[in-house]
Amino acid sequence: MKKIVTLICTTLIFSMLYSCGQKSEIAQENNTEEFNNWYYVRMDNGAIYRDKDLPYVIDFDNMNTSVICNIPNCSHSTNNCLITALKSSEQLPIIYNGAAYFFENKNGYIEKDGKNALDLSFKLRKYNFNNCEFSDVAEVKDFNANVDDGCYLIGTNYYFTTNIGNPTYDELGNVSSSSTSGGGNLFCINLENGTVTDYGEVFDYESLKKQYPSAQNSLSMYLMGKIDNQLYIGINFMKKELTHEMMQNGETPLFYGETHTFDLNTHKITKLDDEFSMCSMNGYHSYYPSGNNTSIMLQNVTTGEIIQGPDILSWNAMTIIDDKVWHDDAKCFDIKTGKDEKISSYNYGQVIAKYNDTYIFMGEDDKGKTIFEKIPQNTSS
Ligand SMILES: [Zn+2]
Repeated sequence: MKKIVTLICTTLIFSMLYSCGQKSEIAQENNTEEFNNWYYVRMDNGAIYRDKDLPYVIDFDNMNTSVICNIPNCSHSTNNCLITALKSSEQLPIIYNGAAYFFENKNGYIEKDGKNALDLSFKLRKYNFNNCEFSDVAEVKDFNANVDDGCYLIGTNYYFTTNIGNPTYDELGNVSSSSTSGGGNLFCINLENGTVTDYGEVFDYESLKKQYPSAQNSLSMYLMGKIDNQLYIGINFMKKELTHEMMQNGETPLFYGETHTFDLNTHKITKLDDEFSMCSMNGYHSYYPSGNNTSIMLQNVTTGEIIQGPDILSWNAMTIIDDKVWHDDAKCFDIKTGKDEKISSYNYGQVIAKYNDTYIFMGEDDKGKTIFEKIPQNTSS
């Protein structure tokens, strides 16, 4: 009898020690850069993506996929699970040095000087894959992080935009409504030591609202990518109010935009153009020209040359790799020849990265399940 008890105790201790031991190898790797564009997180050797509302990791080496939670037999509904922590905001985390990082926004109301005011803050949280514990890296008051509008990790620095709750006020000065759109600041948090840097307002939101009052209800800001030492931040908004009549007639309002760049060396934010920014990477800044939300233009940032790109109807469903635009509906547009060709038997999806000599295609099968394919480099030229 005693022997059995000992055996049970040993098994218990053993399973407690290893109950948090399952690690995806990719979580242990360090990346030089990671771009979290909300649809997926592009890393050096893999990606994080959603499938049926659960976050997964794919390793581009062996194309193995695994759910991002590393607790064996987890229901993903308990408070010690990373997926539970991500559920409410639907954000994807980034991975750095054996841990996942994600934001937690708090937005509520508070009474200030007898008036109804906004009470905003956000935290950057960390989940350590080695001991399965959560901790807070940094907390910032008066802002919410834009968790679904693009974030960029460069080395140890995580860059992201924020909002100030986009408040409207009644005649007495009380906040009467709030939303996650509108203007805000560019921030950076150093993941090693939690240092927070506020680089200030990306653009003058108050002036823009004066010029186009409808921007209050339609503006969003998005970190669109990086070329050399510049981060590209796009804003887009409607110049006219969307009316009930337009909605009934199924009319799609036109969106206009501006592109602003952040210099990673000088830390200066500069307005680049008045276009509706799309993806910017590998030497090309792409955008919808003013008054057109269908076909994109591509600017070669080295030569300044402007090239007519393909029609792209899904916003930001594209990448630019090897002088080619890999875009929605599994197509590849060759910038040099102007040819636009289908690259996969799947109908939905796009190439999201290049790994060694292959392009990584992320698509969807007929049942809506996320699939990946490796496309050899030579078949798409
Ligand atoms: Zn879980």
